[in-house]
Order: sequence, then structure tokens, then C-alpha cells
Amino acid sequence: MSVNHPGDPFIKSNLREFGETIFAEMSALAAKTGAINLGQGFPDTNGPSEIAELAVAAIRSGQNQYPPGLGISELRQAISAHQKRFYDLDFDSETEILVTAGATEGIAASLLSICESGDEVITFEPYYDSYAASIALAGATRRVVTLRAPSYGFDPDELRKAVNTNTKAILVNSPHNPTGKVFDMEELLLIAEICQEHDIVAICDEVYEHLVFEGSHTPLISLPGMRDRTIQISSAGKTFSFTGWKIGWVCAQPALMNTVRTAKQFLTYVNGAPFQHAIASALELPDAYFHNFLADMEKKRNCLSSGLEDAGFAVFEPAGTFFITADIRPFGISNGQQFCLDLPELCGVVAVPNVVFYDNKREGESLVRFAFCKQLTVLESAVSRLRSLGANK
Ligand code: PMP
Ligand code: GLN
Repeated sequence: MSVNHPGDPFIKSNLREFGETIFAEMSALAAKTGAINLGQGFPDTNGPSEIAELAVAAIRSGQNQYPPGLGISELRQAISAHQKRFYDLDFDSETEILVTAGATEGIAASLLSICESGDEVITFEPYYDSYAASIALAGATRRVVTLRAPSYGFDPDELRKAVNTNTKAILVNSPHNPTGKVFDMEELLLIAEICQEHDIVAICDEVYEHLVFEGSHTPLISLPGMRDRTIQISSAGKTFSFTGWKIGWVCAQPALMNTVRTAKQFLTYVNGAPFQHAIASALELPDAYFHNFLADMEKKRNCLSSGLEDAGFAVFEPAGTFFITADIRPFGISNGQQFCLDLPELCGVVAVPNVVFYDNKREGESLVRFAFCKQLTVLESAVSRLRSLGANK
């Protein structure tokens, strides 16, 4: 679907496979057709207004120049306190926390700073698209281990076989985009064991840490033996519904944090000074904020999930995130990519084809992803449009 680079004489060979991101492409399709955009994962409402006001106040009061390289100390202290409050983890705000331009930069800087060319990085497929591109930018090679429906578990032997002497890192995303899977303790312990056995760094993308409906989120870094070999990454975008502010962070032991910082300082140097002030306060919001946010998203999940089922999709109920993956084969078709291109015309809704998140294309061919971080009324009208689709089949 995404356009690669036919005849482009400039692009380097390992970036040739990447075109426009699927999210930009599908949002453009939604804008062009006027369809309801359940493709790209961004909320259609603002985060807490008092937090938005703090950003405005920070701009007005002159917080508009480069912040310190690590991020402002109020934010680093708030990140440290958040780690303690939710996971009982201790991070020194002076030496173990780095503010980044979203989780995306944290992931890229981690890979760029630790991978030599020829190194391999393991990631579970379906994988978030920036992983493949960042691994390529770092000159490393990706190796995938497939998560398979309906539980989206993985075969432990497949993971063991993916490891070799070139393996430098494993990228773990839990809660997982696009499946909504939350890795369970047994899986996390196995990953931890393999990392320690083969001296592998774990890069953990936890941007959906506050969106777990079933069970709870366990950071891999909290498991025995993982504190010194894990880079834990999160961001404010999803938790506070300010995806455009791009305030993310990296937590890791001092040497590893410094390693990531070495790359990060030459990517963006710093970002989002006034937003850093606002997010420092957001992280200190009372527990009620986090509970209400989750309860609200759970209602939305239930609305979309039952709507998709009624419409005739085979639905994988997500334990976390704000995405639902559904299989289109009950409609007698299996090309998810074509389905997503046709969907705006068929019933005025945009979704994302999961196949773009797979190396083994057949595994994801018939799967499509819908985002439910939208107002209930929007989800309800999407659901009624999708029901008409079921009736047509
Ligand atoms: N990782 C995953 C799994 C995501 O879904 C996203 C999108 N929010 C990101 C990373 C990027 O996060 P940010 O916007 O903070 O860069
Ligand atoms: N994380 C969002 C998603 O999965 C999109 C972010 C982006 O557009 N890069 O939909």
C-alpha cells in the first residue's frame, strides 16, 4: 500500500522498503472521503483542560527557549515519582531519566546508540511501524517472532531460535499495538531469561501503560535481573490525550541512559519546553484521573467491539491499548489491504490493514485495526455504518 521509491536515486538501500506511514496515508484517505477516521490512533478530544492551560501559561511566562538536554528537572522528578507510584520502581531523576520527542525518538535513539551494523534486533510481529524503520536507520537487521491469534501468544521455541550471536536487542511493546495484547508474566519471564542468557538489551515500549482493561501492566524492567539491561520507554501522548505534544521519556540505568542520550542529543537535542512543564503536572494528577480515563476507554472499547461483532467481523477483544483487531474472513474475503481502501466508499469508515505490520504477510492478510479513542457518539455512528456493511454481505 505505502509507496516505496521507484527510481529514487537518493534514498539509501535499507530505507527503500519504507514509504509513507500507513497512519498518514489512511488519515489522508479519511480527510479526502469524509469517512469516520478509526485508522490513526489519536483521540478526537483534548486532554484535561487544566493541563492544556498550564502549557499556555508556560508559553506566556516565557518558557520558550531550549530546555536542559535531559529535560526540565520538574518533569524528570515527576516521571520518577510516577514510576514509584505505579510500579514501585526507583529511578534517579538526575542520572536515569531522559525526556525525548515522544516515545518514537526514545526508540530511535536507543537503537541508533546501541546497534552496530550487522547487529540483529528481535521484534514481535505485528510490530509498530517505526520499529522496522528505526532498526534500518541504525544499520541493524530485524528478526521477527510472530504473535498469533486468538491469544496473540508466541511460540517460545520461535523466540529462542530467533536469537543468535548477532542479537543485540529485543523490542517489546506491551500493551501491544495493534493487537491489544498485554504480555503475561510467563511471557515476560521467558523474555527476561533469554535476555540474560544471551546478553541482550530489552527496549520496552510502554506507551499504553495506563490502558490495560484486563489484568495489569508489568514493566519488564521490574523483573529480576532486568534493571540494568532494559531501556523503558513511555510517553504522555496516549495517557493524557495530547499526542501532538510529543513528550516522551526513557528510563534506564545511568550508563544505558547516557548511551541513548548520546544519539538523542543529535537528533532533536531537546523539544517542547512549555509542554514539558504541563506534563510534569499531568503525571502528578490524582489516581482518579487514571481510573476515569481507563473506565471511559473501556466503555468505548465495549461499544466498538460489540458493534464490530454485530457487523459480522471476527473480533479479538483487546486486553489493552485503544485498538481492536478484527478478521474480515467472515465476509468471505481475505484481502485486508483492499478492504481498507474500499471501506470509506462502502460505508464511510477508515481502518488500518494489519498486514503492513507483518514481515510474514500471510499472517496478517485478513486482519484490520480499528481505533476506539474517539467520542462515543462517533463510535456509535461508525458502528451503525459498519452494520450496514454486514447487511450487504
Ligand atoms: N509506540 C507505539 C506502540 C505507538 O502506538 C505509538 C503511537 N503513539 C508510539 C510508540 C509513538 O509514541 P509518541 O507519539 O510518543 O512518539
Ligand atoms: N501510534 C498511532 C497509531 O498506531 C499513530 C502514530 C503515528 O501516526 N505515527 O495509530
